[in-house]
Amino acid sequence: MIKLYNSLTQKKEEFVPIQKGKVGLYTCGPTVYDFSHIGNFRTFLFEDLLKRVLLAFDYKVHHVMNITDVDDKTIKKANDEKKELNEITNKYTNAFLDDSKSLRILEADDYPKATDHIAEMIQMIEVLVSKKFAYISKDGSVFFKISKYSDYGRLVNLSNSTILNEQQLSDEYDLDSVNDFALWKSHKNNDGKVAWDSPWGKGRPGWHIECSAMSTKFLGAHFDIHCGGVDNKFPHHENELAQSTCSLNTPFVNYWLHSEFLTVEGKKMSKSLNNFYIISDLVKEGFTYEDFRFIVLSAHYRSKVNFSIKRKDEAKSAIRRIEEIRQRLLGISNEVSNTLPDVVNDFNESLMDDLDTPKALAIFFNWVRLTNQNIDQKNISENEAKAGNAFVEYFNSIFAILDSPNVLPDEIKSLVDSREDYRKNKEWKKSDSIREKLLSLGWKLKDTKSGTKVTKI
Ligand code: AMP
Ligand code: ZN
Repeated sequence: MIKLYNSLTQKKEEFVPIQKGKVGLYTCGPTVYDFSHIGNFRTFLFEDLLKRVLLAFDYKVHHVMNITDVDDKTIKKANDEKKELNEITNKYTNAFLDDSKSLRILEADDYPKATDHIAEMIQMIEVLVSKKFAYISKDGSVFFKISKYSDYGRLVNLSNSTILNEQQLSDEYDLDSVNDFALWKSHKNNDGKVAWDSPWGKGRPGWHIECSAMSTKFLGAHFDIHCGGVDNKFPHHENELAQSTCSLNTPFVNYWLHSEFLTVEGKKMSKSLNNFYIISDLVKEGFTYEDFRFIVLSAHYRSKVNFSIKRKDEAKSAIRRIEEIRQRLLGISNEVSNTLPDVVNDFNESLMDDLDTPKALAIFFNWVRLTNQNIDQKNISENEAKAGNAFVEYFNSIFAILDSPNVLPDEIKSLVDSREDYRKNKEWKKSDSIREKLLSLGWKLKDTKSGTKVTKI
Protein backbone atom coordinates (compact mmCIF):
# COMPACT_ATOMS: atom_id res chain seq x y z
CA MET A 1 0.00 0.00 0.00
CA ILE A 2 1.49 3.35 -1.05
CA LYS A 3 1.33 6.11 1.54
CA LEU A 4 1.32 9.74 0.48
CA TYR A 5 1.38 12.94 2.51
CA ASN A 6 -1.88 14.72 1.83
CA SER A 7 -1.65 18.51 2.27
CA LEU A 8 -5.41 18.59 2.83
CA THR A 9 -5.32 16.43 5.96
CA GLN A 10 -1.66 17.14 6.81
CA LYS A 11 -1.10 13.43 7.27
CA LYS A 12 0.47 10.53 5.48
CA GLU A 13 -2.43 8.49 4.17
CA GLU A 14 -2.78 5.17 2.42
CA PHE A 15 -3.42 5.80 -1.21
CA VAL A 16 -6.76 4.37 -2.32
CA PRO A 17 -7.72 5.31 -5.87
CA ILE A 18 -11.31 6.12 -6.81
CA GLN A 19 -11.28 3.38 -9.43
CA LYS A 20 -9.30 0.25 -8.63
CA GLY A 21 -5.93 0.17 -10.39
CA LYS A 22 -6.37 3.59 -12.01
CA VAL A 23 -5.07 7.02 -11.09
CA GLY A 24 -6.24 10.41 -12.32
CA LEU A 25 -3.28 12.76 -11.85
CA TYR A 26 -3.30 16.51 -12.48
CA THR A 27 -0.09 18.50 -12.21
CA CYS A 28 0.02 22.27 -12.60
CA GLY A 29 2.15 22.99 -15.63
CA PRO A 30 4.40 25.85 -16.61
CA THR A 31 3.44 29.44 -17.26
CA VAL A 32 5.02 29.79 -20.65
CA TYR A 33 6.38 33.36 -20.66
CA ASP A 34 10.03 32.30 -20.28
CA PHE A 35 12.20 29.19 -19.95
CA SER A 36 11.22 27.05 -16.97
CA HIS A 37 14.01 27.26 -14.36
CA ILE A 38 15.57 24.45 -12.37
CA GLY A 39 13.21 25.15 -9.44
CA ASN A 40 10.22 24.52 -11.68
CA PHE A 41 11.89 21.33 -12.86
CA ARG A 42 12.39 20.21 -9.28
CA THR A 43 8.62 20.15 -8.99
CA PHE A 44 8.15 18.50 -12.38
CA LEU A 45 10.73 15.84 -11.44
CA PHE A 46 8.91 15.14 -8.18
CA GLU A 47 5.74 14.60 -10.21
CA ASP A 48 7.65 12.32 -12.58
CA LEU A 49 8.88 10.31 -9.60
CA LEU A 50 5.35 9.96 -8.27
CA LYS A 51 4.15 8.76 -11.66
CA ARG A 52 7.04 6.30 -12.08
CA VAL A 53 6.34 4.82 -8.64
CA LEU A 54 2.61 4.48 -9.41
CA LEU A 55 3.45 2.81 -12.72
CA ALA A 56 5.94 0.48 -11.01
CA PHE A 57 3.13 -0.62 -8.70
CA ASP A 58 0.97 -1.40 -11.73
CA TYR A 59 -1.41 1.54 -11.62
CA LYS A 60 -2.70 2.84 -14.89
CA VAL A 61 -2.05 6.57 -14.70
CA HIS A 62 -3.94 9.23 -16.63
CA HIS A 63 -1.68 12.26 -16.31
CA VAL A 64 -2.80 15.74 -17.29
CA MET A 65 -0.53 18.78 -17.20
CA ASN A 66 -1.90 22.14 -18.22
CA ILE A 67 0.00 24.83 -20.08
CA THR A 68 -0.76 28.31 -18.74
CA ASP A 69 -0.58 30.31 -21.95
CA VAL A 70 -2.56 33.36 -20.89
CA ASP A 71 -2.05 35.37 -17.70
CA ASP A 72 -0.51 38.67 -16.61
CA LYS A 73 3.08 37.48 -17.21
CA THR A 74 2.57 36.02 -20.68
CA ILE A 75 0.69 39.16 -21.79
CA LYS A 76 3.38 41.45 -20.38
CA LYS A 77 6.14 39.53 -22.15
CA ALA A 78 4.29 39.67 -25.49
CA ASN A 79 3.78 43.43 -25.00
CA ASP A 80 7.43 44.00 -24.02
CA GLU A 81 8.66 42.11 -27.06
CA LYS A 82 5.93 43.55 -29.34
CA LYS A 83 4.92 40.03 -30.37
CA GLU A 84 1.69 38.10 -30.61
CA LEU A 85 0.84 36.22 -27.42
CA ASN A 86 0.98 32.81 -29.11
CA GLU A 87 4.39 33.51 -30.61
CA ILE A 88 5.74 33.85 -27.09
CA THR A 89 3.79 30.97 -25.58
CA ASN A 90 4.52 28.52 -28.43
CA LYS A 91 8.23 29.22 -28.15
CA TYR A 92 8.36 28.55 -24.41
CA THR A 93 5.95 25.60 -24.54
CA ASN A 94 8.27 23.91 -27.03
CA ALA A 95 11.31 24.74 -24.90
CA PHE A 96 9.56 23.28 -21.85
CA LEU A 97 8.67 20.06 -23.70
CA ASP A 98 12.25 19.73 -25.03
CA ASP A 99 13.76 20.20 -21.56
CA SER A 100 11.27 17.73 -20.07
CA LYS A 101 12.22 15.15 -22.66
CA SER A 102 15.94 15.67 -22.07
CA LEU A 103 15.33 15.25 -18.35
CA ARG A 104 13.56 11.96 -19.11
CA ILE A 105 10.32 13.19 -17.61
CA LEU A 106 7.61 10.81 -18.82
CA GLU A 107 5.20 12.53 -21.17
CA ALA A 108 1.78 13.48 -19.85
CA ASP A 109 -1.24 11.99 -21.62
CA ASP A 110 -2.65 15.47 -22.20
CA TYR A 111 -1.14 18.96 -22.21
CA PRO A 112 -4.25 21.17 -22.43
CA LYS A 113 -3.67 24.84 -23.12
CA ALA A 114 -5.68 27.43 -21.25
CA THR A 115 -6.50 29.36 -24.44
CA ASP A 116 -8.14 26.25 -25.91
CA HIS A 117 -10.54 25.97 -22.96
CA ILE A 118 -12.04 29.41 -22.50
CA ALA A 119 -15.57 28.09 -23.16
CA GLU A 120 -15.26 25.52 -20.34
CA MET A 121 -14.01 28.23 -17.98
CA ILE A 122 -16.87 30.57 -18.86
CA GLN A 123 -19.33 27.75 -18.26
CA MET A 124 -17.91 27.07 -14.80
CA ILE A 125 -17.98 30.77 -13.90
CA GLU A 126 -21.61 30.95 -15.03
CA VAL A 127 -22.49 28.16 -12.60
CA LEU A 128 -20.69 29.98 -9.78
CA VAL A 129 -22.53 33.21 -10.60
CA SER A 130 -25.88 31.42 -10.72
CA LYS A 131 -25.20 29.78 -7.36
CA LYS A 132 -24.19 33.19 -5.94
CA PHE A 133 -20.65 32.09 -5.16
CA ALA A 134 -19.50 34.76 -7.59
CA TYR A 135 -20.45 38.34 -8.37
CA ILE A 136 -19.90 40.70 -11.25
CA SER A 137 -18.14 43.99 -10.65
CA LYS A 138 -18.96 47.29 -12.34
CA ASP A 139 -16.28 46.87 -14.99
CA GLY A 140 -17.47 43.38 -16.02
CA SER A 141 -14.97 41.31 -14.04
CA VAL A 142 -16.23 38.33 -12.04
CA PHE A 143 -15.03 37.48 -8.53
CA PHE A 144 -15.36 34.50 -6.28
CA LYS A 145 -16.93 35.56 -2.98
CA ILE A 146 -14.98 33.68 -0.37
CA SER A 147 -17.22 34.71 2.54
CA LYS A 148 -19.91 32.59 0.88
CA TYR A 149 -17.79 29.45 1.15
CA SER A 150 -17.18 28.51 4.77
CA ASP A 151 -14.56 25.87 3.98
CA TYR A 152 -12.24 28.41 2.38
CA GLY A 153 -8.73 27.97 3.85
CA ARG A 154 -8.95 24.19 4.26
CA LEU A 155 -5.88 23.42 2.23
CA VAL A 156 -3.64 25.87 4.05
CA ASN A 157 -5.33 25.08 7.33
CA LEU A 158 -6.32 28.70 7.94
CA SER A 159 -9.67 30.12 8.74
CA ASN A 160 -11.40 32.60 6.50
CA SER A 161 -10.50 35.53 8.73
CA THR A 162 -6.79 34.69 9.06
CA ILE A 163 -6.44 34.76 5.32
CA LEU A 164 -7.41 38.42 5.19
CA ASN A 165 -4.75 40.48 3.43
CA GLU A 166 -2.89 37.44 2.21
CA GLN A 167 -4.70 37.01 -1.07
CA GLN A 168 -2.43 38.10 -3.87
CA LEU A 169 -4.64 40.38 -5.85
CA SER A 170 -4.12 43.56 -7.78
CA ASP A 171 -5.99 46.62 -6.64
CA GLU A 172 -7.12 47.60 -10.09
CA TYR A 173 -10.31 45.54 -9.85
CA ASP A 174 -13.44 46.41 -7.97
CA LEU A 175 -13.85 43.92 -5.10
CA ASP A 176 -16.27 43.33 -2.26
CA SER A 177 -13.46 42.01 -0.09
CA VAL A 178 -9.68 41.97 -0.55
CA ASN A 179 -9.80 38.19 -0.34
CA ASP A 180 -12.09 37.70 -3.27
CA PHE A 181 -10.25 36.49 -6.31
CA ALA A 182 -10.83 37.02 -9.99
CA LEU A 183 -12.53 34.36 -12.07
CA TRP A 184 -12.84 36.62 -15.08
CA LYS A 185 -10.85 39.80 -15.70
CA SER A 186 -12.46 42.49 -17.79
CA HIS A 187 -10.43 43.78 -20.71
CA LYS A 188 -7.78 46.38 -19.88
CA ASN A 189 -5.72 48.42 -22.35
CA ASN A 190 -2.58 46.43 -21.58
CA ASP A 191 -4.32 43.24 -22.66
CA GLY A 192 -4.32 44.51 -26.28
CA LYS A 193 -5.81 41.90 -28.57
CA VAL A 194 -5.90 39.25 -25.86
CA ALA A 195 -9.64 39.05 -25.15
CA TRP A 196 -12.57 36.70 -25.45
CA ASP A 197 -16.29 37.44 -25.46
CA SER A 198 -18.19 36.37 -22.39
CA PRO A 199 -21.64 36.97 -20.84
CA TRP A 200 -19.95 39.76 -18.84
CA GLY A 201 -18.26 41.45 -21.79
CA LYS A 202 -14.78 41.19 -23.24
CA GLY A 203 -12.07 39.84 -21.00
CA ARG A 204 -9.87 36.91 -20.10
CA PRO A 205 -9.92 34.20 -17.44
CA GLY A 206 -8.20 34.38 -14.08
CA TRP A 207 -5.37 31.90 -13.56
CA HIS A 208 -7.07 29.65 -10.99
CA ILE A 209 -10.18 28.89 -13.05
CA GLU A 210 -7.95 27.49 -15.82
CA CYS A 211 -6.94 24.50 -13.73
CA SER A 212 -10.42 23.85 -12.34
CA ALA A 213 -11.96 23.79 -15.81
CA MET A 214 -9.23 21.75 -17.49
CA SER A 215 -8.83 19.15 -14.74
CA THR A 216 -12.60 18.57 -14.76
CA LYS A 217 -12.70 18.26 -18.53
CA PHE A 218 -9.89 15.67 -18.69
CA LEU A 219 -10.24 13.81 -15.39
CA GLY A 220 -13.81 14.38 -14.30
CA ALA A 221 -15.22 16.40 -11.41
CA HIS A 222 -13.62 14.14 -8.80
CA PHE A 223 -10.18 12.65 -9.30
CA ASP A 224 -7.29 11.20 -7.32
CA ILE A 225 -4.16 13.36 -7.11
CA HIS A 226 -3.34 17.01 -7.72
CA CYS A 227 0.26 18.24 -7.45
CA GLY A 228 2.36 21.36 -7.56
CA GLY A 229 5.12 23.17 -5.74
CA VAL A 230 4.47 24.50 -2.20
CA ASP A 231 3.85 27.99 -3.53
CA ASN A 232 0.89 26.62 -5.47
CA LYS A 233 -0.89 25.64 -2.26
CA PHE A 234 -2.05 29.16 -1.61
CA PRO A 235 -3.74 30.90 -3.22
CA HIS A 236 -3.79 28.82 -6.43
CA HIS A 237 -4.89 25.42 -5.14
CA GLU A 238 -7.04 26.84 -2.37
CA ASN A 239 -8.90 28.81 -5.01
CA GLU A 240 -9.18 25.84 -7.36
CA LEU A 241 -10.65 23.82 -4.52
CA ALA A 242 -13.17 26.56 -3.75
CA GLN A 243 -14.25 26.99 -7.38
CA SER A 244 -14.56 23.28 -8.11
CA THR A 245 -16.34 22.22 -4.93
CA CYS A 246 -18.80 25.11 -5.18
CA SER A 247 -19.58 24.69 -8.87
CA LEU A 248 -19.54 20.90 -9.11
CA ASN A 249 -20.62 19.80 -5.64
CA THR A 250 -17.90 17.18 -5.42
CA PRO A 251 -14.87 16.68 -3.16
CA PHE A 252 -12.79 17.55 -6.29
CA VAL A 253 -9.43 15.98 -5.34
CA ASN A 254 -8.64 13.21 -2.83
CA TYR A 255 -4.88 13.76 -2.41
CA TRP A 256 -3.09 17.11 -2.71
CA LEU A 257 0.69 16.73 -2.93
CA HIS A 258 3.19 19.57 -2.80
CA SER A 259 6.95 19.53 -3.23
CA GLU A 260 9.30 21.88 -1.40
CA PHE A 261 11.39 24.48 -3.16
CA LEU A 262 14.77 24.18 -4.76
CA THR A 263 17.23 26.71 -3.40
CA VAL A 264 20.68 27.61 -4.73
CA GLU A 265 23.52 27.76 -2.18
CA GLY A 266 20.74 27.91 0.44
CA LYS A 267 19.15 31.00 -1.09
CA LYS A 268 16.10 31.68 -3.18
CA MET A 269 16.93 31.70 -6.87
CA SER A 270 16.87 35.17 -8.33
CA LYS A 271 18.42 36.93 -11.28
CA SER A 272 19.85 39.68 -9.04
CA LEU A 273 21.68 37.15 -6.86
CA ASN A 274 23.22 35.67 -9.99
CA ASN A 275 22.13 32.20 -8.89
CA PHE A 276 19.39 31.72 -11.43
CA TYR A 277 19.70 28.69 -13.70
CA ILE A 278 17.72 27.20 -16.52
CA ILE A 279 18.42 23.69 -17.81
CA SER A 280 20.72 24.82 -20.63
CA ASP A 281 22.89 26.68 -18.06
CA LEU A 282 23.50 23.39 -16.28
CA VAL A 283 24.57 21.74 -19.52
CA LYS A 284 27.03 24.60 -20.09
CA GLU A 285 28.40 23.99 -16.59
CA GLY A 286 29.09 20.35 -17.49
CA PHE A 287 26.06 18.70 -15.91
CA THR A 288 24.29 15.87 -17.64
CA TYR A 289 20.49 15.75 -17.34
CA GLU A 290 20.97 12.65 -15.21
CA ASP A 291 23.29 14.55 -12.83
CA PHE A 292 20.48 17.01 -12.20
CA ARG A 293 17.93 14.22 -11.78
CA PHE A 294 20.20 12.61 -9.20
CA ILE A 295 20.58 15.84 -7.19
CA VAL A 296 16.84 16.42 -7.12
CA LEU A 297 15.91 12.82 -6.31
CA SER A 298 18.53 12.47 -3.58
CA ALA A 299 16.39 14.76 -1.40
CA HIS A 300 12.93 13.90 -0.16
CA TYR A 301 10.32 15.83 -2.16
CA ARG A 302 9.04 17.55 1.00
CA SER A 303 12.51 18.82 1.91
CA LYS A 304 14.30 21.67 0.22
CA VAL A 305 16.82 20.68 -2.42
CA ASN A 306 19.91 22.79 -2.08
CA PHE A 307 21.40 23.04 -5.54
CA SER A 308 24.96 24.11 -6.11
CA ILE A 309 27.22 23.85 -9.13
CA LYS A 310 29.70 22.11 -6.81
CA ARG A 311 27.32 19.16 -6.46
CA LYS A 312 28.13 18.10 -10.02
CA ASP A 313 31.01 15.84 -8.89
CA GLU A 314 28.89 14.18 -6.20
CA ALA A 315 26.24 13.33 -8.80
CA LYS A 316 28.76 12.10 -11.34
CA SER A 317 30.56 9.86 -8.89
CA ALA A 318 27.27 8.34 -7.62
CA ILE A 319 26.14 7.61 -11.18
CA ARG A 320 29.57 6.19 -12.04
CA ARG A 321 29.35 3.79 -9.09
CA ILE A 322 26.01 2.49 -10.31
CA GLU A 323 27.25 2.19 -13.88
CA GLU A 324 30.28 0.26 -12.60
CA ILE A 325 28.23 -2.30 -10.70
CA ARG A 326 25.99 -2.65 -13.71
CA GLN A 327 29.00 -3.45 -15.91
CA ARG A 328 30.50 -5.83 -13.35
CA LEU A 329 27.25 -7.75 -13.10
CA LEU A 330 26.82 -7.82 -16.87
CA GLY A 331 30.35 -9.21 -17.03
CA ILE A 332 29.14 -12.23 -15.06
CA SER A 333 25.89 -12.68 -16.92
CA ASN A 334 24.18 -10.43 -19.41
CA GLU A 335 20.81 -11.97 -18.76
CA VAL A 336 18.19 -10.23 -16.67
CA SER A 337 16.17 -12.55 -14.45
CA ASN A 338 12.47 -12.22 -13.67
CA THR A 339 13.14 -12.42 -9.95
CA LEU A 340 14.61 -9.54 -8.02
CA PRO A 341 16.89 -9.87 -4.98
CA ASP A 342 15.18 -9.71 -1.56
CA VAL A 343 16.59 -6.25 -0.89
CA VAL A 344 14.05 -4.89 -3.38
CA ASN A 345 11.41 -5.26 -0.64
CA ASP A 346 13.15 -2.64 1.52
CA PHE A 347 13.74 -0.47 -1.53
CA ASN A 348 10.05 -0.62 -2.44
CA GLU A 349 8.93 -0.05 1.11
CA SER A 350 10.81 3.24 1.25
CA LEU A 351 9.31 4.38 -2.04
CA MET A 352 5.86 3.39 -0.80
CA ASP A 353 6.46 5.45 2.32
CA ASP A 354 5.66 8.83 0.79
CA LEU A 355 8.31 8.45 -1.92
CA ASP A 356 11.29 8.33 0.44
CA THR A 357 14.01 8.51 -2.21
CA PRO A 358 16.92 9.27 0.20
CA LYS A 359 16.16 6.03 2.01
CA ALA A 360 15.69 4.08 -1.23
CA LEU A 361 19.04 5.39 -2.48
CA ALA A 362 20.76 4.46 0.79
CA ILE A 363 19.38 0.93 0.50
CA PHE A 364 20.44 0.71 -3.12
CA PHE A 365 23.98 1.98 -2.47
CA ASN A 366 24.39 -0.40 0.43
CA TRP A 367 23.45 -3.23 -1.92
CA VAL A 368 25.97 -1.89 -4.47
CA ARG A 369 28.69 -1.97 -1.81
CA LEU A 370 27.88 -5.51 -0.70
CA THR A 371 27.61 -6.73 -4.28
CA ASN A 372 30.99 -5.23 -5.13
CA GLN A 373 32.45 -7.08 -2.16
CA ASN A 374 30.87 -10.33 -3.30
CA ILE A 375 32.22 -9.89 -6.80
CA ASP A 376 35.71 -9.08 -5.42
CA GLN A 377 35.59 -12.28 -3.39
CA LYS A 378 34.19 -14.25 -6.35
CA ASN A 379 31.27 -15.02 -4.11
CA ILE A 380 28.44 -14.44 -6.57
CA SER A 381 26.56 -16.93 -8.72
CA GLU A 382 25.30 -16.36 -12.23
CA ASN A 383 21.73 -16.38 -10.94
CA GLU A 384 22.58 -13.74 -8.35
CA ALA A 385 24.14 -11.62 -11.09
CA LYS A 386 21.02 -12.01 -13.22
CA ALA A 387 18.85 -10.90 -10.28
CA GLY A 388 21.29 -8.03 -9.70
CA ASN A 389 20.90 -6.96 -13.33
CA ALA A 390 17.13 -6.94 -12.81
CA PHE A 391 17.49 -4.78 -9.70
CA VAL A 392 19.70 -2.23 -11.47
CA GLU A 393 17.19 -1.94 -14.31
CA TYR A 394 14.27 -1.70 -11.88
CA PHE A 395 16.12 0.99 -9.92
CA ASN A 396 16.65 2.82 -13.19
CA SER A 397 12.97 2.64 -14.12
CA ILE A 398 12.34 4.84 -11.07
CA PHE A 399 15.39 7.10 -10.95
CA ALA A 400 16.22 7.13 -14.69
CA ILE A 401 19.82 8.18 -14.23
CA LEU A 402 21.59 5.50 -16.29
CA ASP A 403 21.60 5.05 -20.03
CA SER A 404 19.52 2.20 -21.25
CA PRO A 405 21.96 -0.68 -21.86
CA ASN A 406 19.93 -2.28 -24.59
CA VAL A 407 19.50 0.70 -26.81
CA LEU A 408 22.31 0.99 -29.31
CA PRO A 409 22.42 3.92 -31.69
CA ASP A 410 21.78 2.70 -35.26
CA GLU A 411 25.31 3.53 -36.40
CA ILE A 412 26.80 1.44 -33.57
CA LYS A 413 24.40 -1.42 -34.16
CA SER A 414 25.26 -1.67 -37.85
CA LEU A 415 29.00 -1.66 -37.03
CA VAL A 416 28.47 -4.46 -34.50
CA ASP A 417 26.44 -6.44 -37.05
CA SER A 418 29.02 -6.10 -39.78
CA ARG A 419 31.76 -7.13 -37.34
CA GLU A 420 29.69 -10.20 -36.56
CA ASP A 421 29.61 -11.07 -40.27
CA TYR A 422 33.39 -10.68 -40.57
CA ARG A 423 33.86 -12.93 -37.55
CA LYS A 424 31.66 -15.59 -39.07
CA ASN A 425 33.81 -15.47 -42.20
CA LYS A 426 36.94 -15.52 -40.03
CA GLU A 427 38.06 -12.15 -41.43
CA TRP A 428 39.77 -11.25 -38.19
CA LYS A 429 41.64 -8.16 -39.36
CA LYS A 430 38.46 -6.51 -40.54
CA SER A 431 36.59 -7.48 -37.42
CA ASP A 432 39.42 -6.09 -35.26
CA SER A 433 39.42 -2.81 -37.10
CA ILE A 434 35.70 -2.43 -36.37
CA ARG A 435 36.38 -3.17 -32.71
CA GLU A 436 38.96 -0.31 -32.75
CA LYS A 437 36.53 1.97 -34.49
CA LEU A 438 33.82 1.22 -31.90
CA LEU A 439 36.31 1.85 -29.12
CA SER A 440 37.14 5.24 -30.60
CA LEU A 441 33.40 6.01 -30.62
CA GLY A 442 33.18 5.10 -26.93
CA TRP A 443 31.79 1.54 -27.12
CA LYS A 444 33.45 -1.55 -25.72
CA LEU A 445 32.87 -5.09 -27.03
CA LYS A 446 33.03 -8.33 -25.18
CA ASP A 447 32.54 -11.65 -26.95
CA THR A 448 30.79 -14.17 -24.75
CA LYS A 449 29.30 -17.61 -25.28
CA SER A 450 25.88 -16.04 -25.60
CA GLY A 451 26.99 -13.46 -28.15
CA THR A 452 28.73 -10.10 -28.33
CA LYS A 453 28.02 -7.63 -25.56
CA VAL A 454 28.28 -3.94 -26.26
CA THR A 455 28.70 -1.45 -23.46
CA LYS A 456 29.29 2.26 -23.31
CA ILE A 457 32.65 3.25 -21.87
P1 AMP B 1 5.07 28.37 -12.91
O1 AMP B 1 5.67 28.15 -14.27
O2 AMP B 1 5.54 29.61 -12.26
O3 AMP B 1 3.55 28.28 -12.95
O4 AMP B 1 5.59 27.19 -11.96
C1 AMP B 1 5.59 25.84 -12.34
C2 AMP B 1 5.80 24.96 -11.11
O5 AMP B 1 7.07 25.20 -10.51
C3 AMP B 1 4.77 25.19 -10.00
O6 AMP B 1 4.31 23.91 -9.54
C4 AMP B 1 5.54 25.90 -8.91
O7 AMP B 1 5.03 25.60 -7.64
C5 AMP B 1 6.93 25.32 -9.09
N1 AMP B 1 8.05 26.15 -8.60
C6 AMP B 1 8.28 27.48 -8.80
N2 AMP B 1 9.46 27.87 -8.23
C7 AMP B 1 9.99 26.76 -7.64
C8 AMP B 1 11.20 26.48 -6.90
N3 AMP B 1 12.13 27.41 -6.65
N4 AMP B 1 11.39 25.22 -6.46
C9 AMP B 1 10.48 24.24 -6.71
N5 AMP B 1 9.35 24.43 -7.40
C10 AMP B 1 9.09 25.66 -7.88
ZN1 ZN C 1 -2.88 24.93 -11.57
